Amino acid sequence: MESGKPKYPRPVTDDPLDAKFWELCQTGRLHFQRCEDCGSWRFLPRYMCAKCGSAAYEWRPVAGRGRVFSWTVTYQPFHPAFAADVPYIAAVIELDEGVRMATRLLDCDPQAVTLDMPVALTFKDIGDGFQLPCFHPVSAERAPAR
Ligand SMILES: [Zn+2]
Repeated sequence: MESGKPKYPRPVTDDPLDAKFWELCQTGRLHFQRCEDCGSWRFLPRYMCAKCGSAAYEWRPVAGRGRVFSWTVTYQPFHPAFAADVPYIAAVIELDEGVRMATRLLDCDPQAVTLDMPVALTFKDIGDGFQLPCFHPVSAERAPAR
């Protein structure tokens, strides 16, 4: 048995669209599908637009800025790899493009999170170079106005 810290679990990529999303994360930028017919952004990855039903899309990079839509502070690790991370913040971020994404909020005191807190994208290496998109707080002065 291998010793040392347990490895973080990787995202499941059984579906080709999910696999493409995670593959694009490895480029160091966050990409979402954008509908080629109505311009709506899609996340989670899906085969049809939820607004107009179109199957046409392209993968487009996003700015990686948004605000805290919701969050919870996790005190109990549900996997051994997270034991050293607790307490940590599991958050839903609403990106400036309008999509919401479940993620982690890093470099933030769990007591300091607020609704609509401005955040920016960062990537966390969860082992073997695999890049997981996460977010961290940014000052309100640097955040775009709503
Ligand atoms: Zn559409």
